[in-house]
Amino acid sequence: MQESVLAKLGKNSISATDIANQFWCEKQVELNYLYGKKYTEQMQKGKQIHEELKAETYIPLNVEPVTYADLLYKIGYENYMALKVLGEKKVCRELTIYGSLGGFKVVGQIDELRLDENGVRIIELKTIDFRQGFSTNQSKLKPNIVQVMLYKKLLDDLRLRRYTLYNFSKAYSLQTKKLSDPFLRALHELGIKEEYTNISEIYRLMFDEFYTMPKVSDKLEIRYVDRFTGKQVSNIIINYDEERINRDLSFALKYWHGEREAMPVSKEERWKCRLCKFYGKECKVWWPPG
Ligand code: SF4
Repeated sequence: MQESVLAKLGKNSISATDIANQFWCEKQVELNYLYGKKYTEQMQKGKQIHEELKAETYIPLNVEPVTYADLLYKIGYENYMALKVLGEKKVCRELTIYGSLGGFKVVGQIDELRLDENGVRIIELKTIDFRQGFSTNQSKLKPNIVQVMLYKKLLDDLRLRRYTLYNFSKAYSLQTKKLSDPFLRALHELGIKEEYTNISEIYRLMFDEFYTMPKVSDKLEIRYVDRFTGKQVSNIIINYDEERINRDLSFALKYWHGEREAMPVSKEERWKCRLCKFYGKECKVWWPPG
């Protein structure tokens, strides 16, 4: 039997970022999994800004997970807290969302949600190096647009019970998951009440928050933040277009279904290759430079 694409890449779910990045260069997404992501200084700085913003809205659960079940619990707990904070402070950050697309498990992390009279607004933060100038042409914007539209679609699926606690429990075998003893002890030491130390209960509470969430706005925001100062440089509002995202997803999923090979960038977009760490090494599609 032919090996599935997920197995080849050592994955068991697809992230929303993977799908978004397919619209930059699909081949690069594949090579990143096959040859390892370089953890650059810039990515570290971007991550730090995300962490700082996250800490502004709620206190993360400071317990190290020992097992996968512990990790799943931690995500569920932090998500539940974040969704409660959204109701109280009208803003929450770094929310993990789950869903299903074409039979695949999909996971995403929304940078920010804001609640106002028009409902819940999805905001995606992009850190940029302002010293190198700022421009948003269509090729650069496309992955970001796919990403925010996909978040909206997944969030609507959760809110409207198209992806429920039942679907999630089945996909992640929640009933069989048990927290490790050291993790449980640490939760007790933090003073977390006994009824909240059950993984199924935490996810029940989390899904209840999704089910009762106000309408998600069709206006999606991409916010550009300076990598070094953390200050907002610009923002773009995108109107949700269901037909468009469904078309893009059906194209993207063909790769994951193994219906086609990973596509390199087109000839017109081969300028992207100069920014790619695989250029002339693992990928020679547009090499030597013409
Ligand atoms: S070199 Fe170009 S085509 Fe190859 S993976 Fe990188 S961006 Fe894609």
